[in-house]
Amino acid sequence: MELGIQGKRALVCASSKGLGLGCAEALAAEGVDLVMNARSPGPLEESAQNLRKTYGIQVVTVAADITSEDGRAQVLEAAGDVDILVTNAGGPPPGMWSDWDREDFIKALDANMLTPIALMKACLPKMIDKGWGRVVNITSQSVKAPIAVLGLSNSARAGLTGYVGGTSRQVAEFGVNINNLLPGIHATDRAVSLDQGVMKAQGISLEQAQAQRMAGIPAKRYGMAEEFGAMCAFLCSDKAGFIVGQNILLDGGGVNSTM
Ligand code: NAP
Repeated sequence: MELGIQGKRALVCASSKGLGLGCAEALAAEGVDLVMNARSPGPLEESAQNLRKTYGIQVVTVAADITSEDGRAQVLEAAGDVDILVTNAGGPPPGMWSDWDREDFIKALDANMLTPIALMKACLPKMIDKGWGRVVNITSQSVKAPIAVLGLSNSARAGLTGYVGGTSRQVAEFGVNINNLLPGIHATDRAVSLDQGVMKAQGISLEQAQAQRMAGIPAKRYGMAEEFGAMCAFLCSDKAGFIVGQNILLDGGGVNSTM
């Protein structure tokens, strides 16, 4: 299928590894020029160079913390006028409801709700002026089905989802589509760190923790960043202009619901 986005320009946040990199690569494969971001410059430049070499696209890199005001300003300045925005950042740490205080919530809200909102607020006006734009926010399956140990994530991402539900309907008439992608467990560093938490809490091996988690997923495996990226590229495509404010689960059937 021709996605019709060759030559467009995308900002993909938190994209040196994992799901963000999966999205960046799928867009690169469609001929989209990229602005990539992560905090550590080494892996960021390595991933960017790979994409330049493989797909012949232009890639600008900005090593900065996307959840800080200063970092966001650097990224947005380098990005300039983008047609596509993919928001992403690291997820909050796991814990118990009794662990979290106001400061923990503020940090999670900053990273996983207010950062994507600030990025949208900065990028939407130019998309609206041009009459074309796509935004994909990487959130989590925890939006549809809470993950008890990820209370900070459940809370922040639910707030972002509410914002997108309304905002996507305010900008759709201008050819700008905002949707959320909800990952279930995917084979990335984040999954390793969550499984290490289970390993320590239950006194089992990493392999046992992974097998236990896979057993609860109908597909009996973890998702791959490439699969996630493919859905992101479709949502960013010219074909996706009638998809507005949706929350699309990529979870191997993990969330047990009819709709
Ligand atoms: P990952 O493999 O750990 O990769 C995270 C990427 O984001 C890295 O490139 C990292 O690079 C960058 N990053 C992290 N914090 C950043 C920040 N503050 N500013 C800029 N870049 C930052 O994680 P992932 O699995 O791709 O997860 C991506 C998002 O999806 C997270 O919010 C996660 O909670 C959510 N999620 C993941 C899963 C899963 O199974 N993987 C499931 C549900 C939800 P640096 O460290 O160099 O900054």
